[in-house]
Amino acid sequence: MQNAINIINDCELEIKDVFSHIDEVVLYNQEKVLTAFKKNMIAARHFAPTTGYGYDDVGRDTLCALFADIFNAESAIVSPHLINGTHAIFTALAGVLRPNDTMLSITDEPYDTLLDAIKSDSIGSLKDFGINFDKIALKNGEIDYIEVEKYFQNKSPKLIFIQRSRGYNWRNALSISDISKTIKIVKKLSENAIIMIDNCYGEFVDKLEPTDVGADLVAGSLIKNPGGGIAQTGGYIIGRKDLIDLVAGRLTVPGIGMEAGSYQASYLPFFQGLFIAPHVVAQAMKTSALFASVFSRLGYSTFPEPNTIGHDIITSIKFNTKDELLAFCCEIQNSSPVDSFATPEPWDMPGYAHQVIMAAGAFVQGSSIELSADSPIVEPYIAYCQGSLTYEHGKIALKNILNKII
Ligand SMILES: *Cc1c(COP(=O)(O)O)cnc(C)c1O
Repeated sequence: MQNAINIINDCELEIKDVFSHIDEVVLYNQEKVLTAFKKNMIAARHFAPTTGYGYDDVGRDTLCALFADIFNAESAIVSPHLINGTHAIFTALAGVLRPNDTMLSITDEPYDTLLDAIKSDSIGSLKDFGINFDKIALKNGEIDYIEVEKYFQNKSPKLIFIQRSRGYNWRNALSISDISKTIKIVKKLSENAIIMIDNCYGEFVDKLEPTDVGADLVAGSLIKNPGGGIAQTGGYIIGRKDLIDLVAGRLTVPGIGMEAGSYQASYLPFFQGLFIAPHVVAQAMKTSALFASVFSRLGYSTFPEPNTIGHDIITSIKFNTKDELLAFCCEIQNSSPVDSFATPEPWDMPGYAHQVIMAAGAFVQGSSIELSADSPIVEPYIAYCQGSLTYEHGKIALKNILNKII
């Protein structure tokens, strides 16, 4: 058996075309981001904290304008008051859906933490407010266009929901061209349907974003890609202005929307994080490509498949046993800059159906743009590994894992 370093170095050579692709995307996105910073004339005054009502909070307003420009959207909400990605997505849904409307997910069930918020009884879920939910399963990991067309023959949902990243499913993320094709098809079937994308883990992975290809509403987390590892909390919702205005009324108060809302810490981490996000995402993408290449060489199945371009920052690795999965997660934890001495254990987490193990020795709690792995404890034993602020950290963690496994 080859030693860990040799395997890693071999694999790194094998994926040099994938790396070149990532380099090209990051250069494009860095310029796009810089252009938006210049256009919005970002200055030190935008970083200042505010208090109380937060009227005329120029940092808040400008951060929103900056996101709207970068994502080619009419309007944006970017807020530390969105506690996570789930909150951003739920706020968007609750903002635009009304009693008797139907939300149709065409990527099967939404992400685990959204299920209660959409479907549970008596906790103020969408269902509680008389909003219907339908879903269409994926077929071989892809959107089932035949079933989608059939559905529209006798139903007209108000909102079509697409999850870009893989969640805890054995599939690849959707590419921007998949999303573009899907939006064209759905718009033909129903001109007025609102198309919403769960964009978690997808930002800056490609040159275009869902809003570039016709999405009406897009949401995600700032402790994933667009916070660049620097933002310490928050979420964003971007899209059509009429929709964002409704969502703003749900986030704060109808009639007040984004006119108020202060933040007593500096906005600087959101601006700086956004600025370096394309680069940090590229570091995570390279780490993911290396993990996929190395683990498939060792005989494990992975998504993305080795030597292919990923469409989110995650690598899924299918292990043979629960013990292998736990060993992998432990070594990710032990190779982290924070809490390296801790041993992650499977646990009942709020919003998840199975016990979940989470390895995250992160500076920001739960930040998964930092190197991390999480897995529901259920067969088949799949690790979902993502992030890495630096490619070098990912590579060192991988070496440590191989030294344990081989
Ligand atoms: C992370 C994630 C979310 C939101 O999760 P939070 O932990 O609430 O930020 C939603 N959808 C997908 C696909 C995700 O990966």
